[in-house]
Amino acid sequence: MNVPLLDLKPQYAALKDEIQAAINRVCESQRFIMGPEVSGLEEELAAYCGVEYAIGVSSGTDALLLALMAAGVGPGDEVITTPYTFFATAGSIARLGARAVFVDIQSETFNIDPAGIEARLTPRTRAIIPVHLFGQCADMDPILQVAQKHNLYVIEDAAQAIGSEYKGRRAGSMGHVGCFSFFPSKNLGAFGDGGAVTTNDPELAERMRILRVHGAQPKYYHKLVGGNFRLDALQAAILRVKLKYLDSWTAGRQRNAALYNRLFTEMGLAGGPNPVLTLPFEAGDRGQLAHRRGAEAPFPGYRHIYNQYVLRVGPRRDALRAHLSERGIGNEVYYPVPLHLQECFAGWGYQPGDFPASETAAQESIAIPIYPELTETQIRTVAEAIADFFQHA
Ligand SMILES: *Cc1c(COP(=O)(O)O)cnc(C)c1O
Repeated sequence: MNVPLLDLKPQYAALKDEIQAAINRVCESQRFIMGPEVSGLEEELAAYCGVEYAIGVSSGTDALLLALMAAGVGPGDEVITTPYTFFATAGSIARLGARAVFVDIQSETFNIDPAGIEARLTPRTRAIIPVHLFGQCADMDPILQVAQKHNLYVIEDAAQAIGSEYKGRRAGSMGHVGCFSFFPSKNLGAFGDGGAVTTNDPELAERMRILRVHGAQPKYYHKLVGGNFRLDALQAAILRVKLKYLDSWTAGRQRNAALYNRLFTEMGLAGGPNPVLTLPFEAGDRGQLAHRRGAEAPFPGYRHIYNQYVLRVGPRRDALRAHLSERGIGNEVYYPVPLHLQECFAGWGYQPGDFPASETAAQESIAIPIYPELTETQIRTVAEAIADFFQHA
């Protein structure tokens, strides 16, 4: 049985009539730029994320760029972030002529280690971008503390984390700006590119609204040099339909994760005397690294939304990938090359060995299918294929 890493067709099939109606509404209005669908989505997103303002933008990448522009980041500035993330996090810093100053991750959560931040601050540091990787929030309290102490912006890269919670607060509501992506493979996916920024600060909201339309306020009078960072009305109309179902999809992803955890534990692959896998770690209170695995109740106030379900499998990761791919089971490595080792950032002068936890994660981790519509049979098929690899290889 083939099990794709992600299949969006069952979700579309379930919502087809509603989505077609939303698309038709926009077609009939012939209003494609801004307008009521975009402002309607912005209100619904702000409520969902627990913030005052949400602003629809053209992609998650542009959300990051816009947030950094609104924070005044420019040539010569430094921005603290993690090297273990999607390219756009550091790419947007570089595009503004600034420099990414990387801080290694906590191996357990794959998120930036707050303890490493303060030592890397310089008089040029302007902002910190924690990334809520795979759908779990970074340990925000110590990050917010160090930012407040040194007067830095905190820009949350919440592209993978819509609806994720940390101590009862939602991703994108804790820093100065939250950045979201509606790329189709994200938990809330558009029919193309899209994104949003969130904030509780009315001045930042205003600046980002202006920067979104080439810095014009009013039209044709330019206070700032912005860009075309608008979200299409068609995408907004589709996203408004899908947002209503997001919590049920998150519950499906969590249910699938719990089933994998149970199966891998029962099969003796995780936990026990001879573990060959490390299950995804859910951080929780009593020190962020208190954790749970498997079927225990979630920590109150914490919510992992499982944009990805990522196992650690040690040095045989690539052989496992080949085994799964041969059997038609989707898998991926997020991410094979940490950003400090990307060719385009060679000018920043980082070396192999600079961030050992990120480098090890890049070598040992593998993502397997987790999308909400997976059947129990498909999940068992994936788990059995993994068990088979470790029994026979
Ligand atoms: C997807 C993603 C982005 C970029 O979003 P796009 O909408 O694809 O531009 C940025 N950061 C992270 C962590 C992402 O996963």
